[in-house]
Amino acid sequence: MGIDVGGTKMLAVAVDRSQPTEILVQHLVSTPVTAEGVISSLIELAQMCGAERQLGIGLAGLVEDGEVLRAAPNLQCMIDVPVRSAVEGALGVPVFIDNDATCALVAEMTYGVAQGSYDTVLVTLGTGIGGGIAIGGSVRRGAHGFAGEPGHMCVDPFGPLCVCGRNGCWERYASGSGVVRLAQQRGLSADRNGQDITGEVLVELARSGDAVALEVWAEFAEWLARGLANLADVLDPELVVIGGGLVSVSDLYLERTRELFVREVLGGRSRRRTHIEPAQSGPSAGAVGAALLH
Ligand SMILES: [Zn+2]
Repeated sequence: MGIDVGGTKMLAVAVDRSQPTEILVQHLVSTPVTAEGVISSLIELAQMCGAERQLGIGLAGLVEDGEVLRAAPNLQCMIDVPVRSAVEGALGVPVFIDNDATCALVAEMTYGVAQGSYDTVLVTLGTGIGGGIAIGGSVRRGAHGFAGEPGHMCVDPFGPLCVCGRNGCWERYASGSGVVRLAQQRGLSADRNGQDITGEVLVELARSGDAVALEVWAEFAEWLARGLANLADVLDPELVVIGGGLVSVSDLYLERTRELFVREVLGGRSRRRTHIEPAQSGPSAGAVGAALLH
């Protein structure tokens, strides 16, 4: 089984290794705000899903050597936490941990939309933005396991303060928390019923044809395209995969992102096309990929 630990939610799935596209059991809970809480939730979820063989955990942060979560801007409580040994000690089955977006990339390369793609970049759009990178057909984790954190690429040094302590990071614009901020900037802080603006509310407003909400999603697509173009300028992938919670509403921004990407990337109209596709397993890609860790 696999658990994806994001900044807001934890998703647990159980799959059959021979047919991982079929999710047998699934549980979604809110992410606790203390390290102890997260560890207990992991153990509880594993027991609820009946983790008898092995457990993989994808974490939205810097995972060192498959052992320790060093830092996670969207999981502020999780600094230097030895997640693998803590959970394995309690469960008594083998436990593997990795970055959540890297897990999603593993899932998509194994049976999803990135099968057969040699150079792939995957970005997860959730509370923040995560990233996974494959070059020449193999997943790259960098010298310390920390590669692929595009959410904290600076796109405006005078931009808003990020959870990481710096300014103008990409995820302040093109993530779930980013799109809410873009809405607030346009004076949209509550819907007609006085409910606070959230990603879900913005989706509903856009679907009901609200002009401001539609503008917000259009701006979101611009920022998404800008960051993806930066990544493509560095890595020249043949495929960019969009995962994370926001992939379930990709109809609101994906077409526009594809168009703007061609405008933003170097030599966009002349170079061979980089395909931008939603993750086949949608928002579950991270959890399913975690289940495939070994
Ligand atoms: Zn940041």
